[in-house]
Amino acid sequence: MKFDVILLAAGKSVRMGMNKMILPVSGEVILERALEAFLGISGIEKIIIAVSEEIKKGAKEIASRHHSCEIMLVEGGNCREESVYNCLKHVDANGVLIHDGARPFVSTKLIKEVMEGVEEKGSCVPGLPITDSIRRVDDGLIVGVGNRNKYWSVQTPQGYVFSELSFAFENMKNSGKSFKDFTDESEIYLSYVKEPYIIPGEKKNRKITDLGDLTGINSRIGSGYDIHVLTSGRKLIICGMEIDFELGCLAHSDGDVGIHALIDALLSASGELDIGSHFPDSDVKYSGIDSTIMLSEVIDILTQKNHRINNVSITILLEKPKIQDYIPLMRVKLANLLKIPYTDIAISAKTAEGLGDIGESKAIAAYAMVILT
Ligand code: MG
Repeated sequence: MKFDVILLAAGKSVRMGMNKMILPVSGEVILERALEAFLGISGIEKIIIAVSEEIKKGAKEIASRHHSCEIMLVEGGNCREESVYNCLKHVDANGVLIHDGARPFVSTKLIKEVMEGVEEKGSCVPGLPITDSIRRVDDGLIVGVGNRNKYWSVQTPQGYVFSELSFAFENMKNSGKSFKDFTDESEIYLSYVKEPYIIPGEKKNRKITDLGDLTGINSRIGSGYDIHVLTSGRKLIICGMEIDFELGCLAHSDGDVGIHALIDALLSASGELDIGSHFPDSDVKYSGIDSTIMLSEVIDILTQKNHRINNVSITILLEKPKIQDYIPLMRVKLANLLKIPYTDIAISAKTAEGLGDIGESKAIAAYAMVILT
């Protein structure tokens, strides 16, 4: 049996607040990762992507990078089932798989199981038994109880014999129902053909509906370190705050070890070269520069790469002075520069217990770690 795949990418991403199809996941956008899951599987002939106007150009670029099977773009409808209907008109194979573009983690194994299910039973829908208790809710109150043993949550790819699904859609249209009356194909197939066959899906095959679904998946960690010699006749600036002290850091810039360590952590997490490559100390334009300006430039680099800062942790190593009282202000200052809540910025200060150059107040050092999403 041959299959064509319908990949649904025309959604408005209302729950996400931005178009999730073009969000990067481990270096690739979600749609491309979902598309790649189907490439190279024997029996799949063509992939039809339902796109919105908004992502048409991006989807075209993605399609142009892959040549192992035919990929075509079709204009999506006003809702999921209308998009499926539009795409069904372009299906030539006798089997059809329908997959959410927002499920980029589907495995080849599951796709093949669904294809086998269609060959054996005429339809195949992956799903997972519900493990949480089910309650009916009305106006902020629990008003009823559901038996979770009788319910599964449904995933994609859903597979059908093309003629049967097409028949179900035509009958649905003729019966005066609207596309919006159905949330997926299994509901239409159930209403107009018969009970679809269901198999266990995969936990990792989850749908990306909001940024929280990407936590941990899309994270990039970075670490940074900096040290500067303390000398007289210089201001002491740490994490953007001028500290009252008789010594300051010797440096080409303002010598802010906290921000320098942070910049390296951010660049490192982003896969960029280090601070010295971006702001060479041989360049006079960085002479005496306020390090917050360099930090802002680095934030611009991250923004262009669609990276967001999840949280920041900085440790300052210095024997004296005590900087505890400055830390709340440092956090607020960095929060404004990084455009994240100050509660996502931790700054701690440690002495070296009198040991080594830091212990003898000959130097100040800093470590920073960041997580980008
Ligand atoms: Mg430095």
